[in-house]
Amino acid sequence: MERPDHWLRYGNPWEFISPDDMVEVGFGGHSEMTVAADGRIRVRWLPAERVFGEPCTTLVPGYGTTTVNILRLWRARATDEFDFQLFDAGDYARAVAQKVVSENISKVLYPNDNTLQGQELRLRQQYFFVACSLRDIIRRFHLRNDDWDAFPSKVAIQLNDTHPVISIPELMRILLDEEGLEWEQAWRITSQTFAYTCHTLLPEALEQWPVSLFEHLLPRHLELIYEINGRFLDEVRARFPGDEARVIRMSLIGEGDVRRVRMAHLATVGGFAVNGVAALHSRLLREQTLVDFAAMWPEKFQNKTNGVTPRRFVRLANPRLSDLITETVGDGWLRQLDQLRGLEACVDDAGFRERWRGIKAQNRQDLAAFLKGHAGVSVRPDAMMDVIVKRLHEYKRQLLKAMHIIALYQRLRDDPGREIVPRTFVFGAKAAPGYFMAKLIIKLINSVGQVVNNDPVVGGRLSVAFPANFNVSIGHLIYPAADLSEQISLAGKEASGTGNMKFALNGAVTIGTLDGANVEIRDLVGAENFFLFGLTTEEVAGLREAGYNPQEYYEANPTLRRVVDSIADGTFSSGDRGLFQPIVDSLLDRDEYLHMADFQAYLDCQERVEQAYRDQERWTRMSILNVARCGFFSSDRTIGEYAEAIWRLTPVRVSQ
Ligand SMILES: *Cc1c(COP(=O)(O)O)cnc(C)c1O
Repeated sequence: MERPDHWLRYGNPWEFISPDDMVEVGFGGHSEMTVAADGRIRVRWLPAERVFGEPCTTLVPGYGTTTVNILRLWRARATDEFDFQLFDAGDYARAVAQKVVSENISKVLYPNDNTLQGQELRLRQQYFFVACSLRDIIRRFHLRNDDWDAFPSKVAIQLNDTHPVISIPELMRILLDEEGLEWEQAWRITSQTFAYTCHTLLPEALEQWPVSLFEHLLPRHLELIYEINGRFLDEVRARFPGDEARVIRMSLIGEGDVRRVRMAHLATVGGFAVNGVAALHSRLLREQTLVDFAAMWPEKFQNKTNGVTPRRFVRLANPRLSDLITETVGDGWLRQLDQLRGLEACVDDAGFRERWRGIKAQNRQDLAAFLKGHAGVSVRPDAMMDVIVKRLHEYKRQLLKAMHIIALYQRLRDDPGREIVPRTFVFGAKAAPGYFMAKLIIKLINSVGQVVNNDPVVGGRLSVAFPANFNVSIGHLIYPAADLSEQISLAGKEASGTGNMKFALNGAVTIGTLDGANVEIRDLVGAENFFLFGLTTEEVAGLREAGYNPQEYYEANPTLRRVVDSIADGTFSSGDRGLFQPIVDSLLDRDEYLHMADFQAYLDCQERVEQAYRDQERWTRMSILNVARCGFFSSDRTIGEYAEAIWRLTPVRVSQ
């Protein structure tokens, strides 16, 4: 169930409204060609509607620096509060209707994750925010500059995924139609200003807007996109003569039953750099998703492995561990996270390991108290915290985790006296509204929890907690308490992940596939301090090529068969055989994300986890080494790399 988050109900004390910097944004209408006095052709866009953008400014101070950055968000404001003609005619509701429509632009954040719903309001939002920000950037540029050619050396615009890519034709429109520059100069400025970060490998997340929507909402931008495309495809034909298949693949316009603008292609053509967010992701972008573009412009392609801020995700979230770290290596680690390396010297110190374990135990207790209050689940203080928290998506395979729990439960039912490591399974996940399978998987996990938590045979040795509303604040409790970090997406689907980094920096050991930044975490912490399982990207491709049939795994593996059968037969749904049938069907018919193929490898790997955990001294060493060797995953390092290799910035040195 979703409920609105009225986060502005009581206002926002941190922001300033700056009415002086209000801007105007147009929509719809048409464009008009005129011949100027000097004989040059000028195009003007005549929008049908106008909306004001009102800037809401938040100051963002650096940590222990004298720098304060400006975060500027925009609120839509109607240009006309009121239609007096309608009002005079007595139609009071319609007199304010246009105001409501205009102001809706900034009312709702689309909560979808990694899919495009193709709603007109969404494209309106994208253009609105982009147009406001570009206007503001240009206003600031003109405070000190009047030479447009200096723009790329003063301004860098990083396109954070495909959502703001409409800013490329918007800047072209301003330079050509409003400033009167020639195409070549305008394109040189534009294509030296933008750089694009891709955040996904899922094809459904690369936005493609119907041409018809553009015609209606942004007609001038569509003309410019066609012109950019025409010139770009000429370049492709010159480079690869006679290769029309390549031209069709690379075009900014996808020709299907519906013609669509491919925003990722527009970003790649209109920007001077393209990057992925982990080493594997950047390689897959070059070799698969954008392979034709990498062949044309190999020098554009870069990698910037994601990071997380140690101030929030270690210092603020985990004060106990932070104090021990500072006591051991000093407090420089908060700004130079590589200094965590100093902890390695302590792994052989039994007293240090004991303190480390004690902190983890205290953090587990804090989480246990929260789980009691918010999920109604009692957990044993000695149980391993086995955690999977992330948006709910089939590619992330929370379902595989549920299948593991069911298998453990069935083994315990068969052999109640079995010696096992007690485990608390913690789930945290939101599903996008309307994502039916995601919601059904949440239902399944809760239903499995109901059965497992209340079965006297289990006797509390396994428990499942799924607190609602996973968010950053709840993350502050969860990441520091975790023993085992579950990063089990199908290889080739998770661009980077950042939860994986937060866990490792708080001393959880990872069980994971070779996906996203897991690859780099494993390289850094050492294979012996990481639990690896599952198919690789290449093996996934090979299996699909050979014709993947999930039923073969069902037939061949009795443990797997029993797990799937129990989901189907009502064991977890009070006998209702229909409830979870869509999950069973999806596993047996297509199994898009290869749960069936990776199931046994995952179970075997969890067996190794259990063996390692029994040896608490060994486990504590692994935990310490994970923290000591993950300094690379500071967002300071990531941002430093963007500054140097893309924005070409040097740090401002301030004399105190
Ligand atoms: C870090 C974080 C995520 C991202 O987690 P992944 O495991 O990388 O998908 C999602 N939600 C919240 C609240 C987070 O703090």
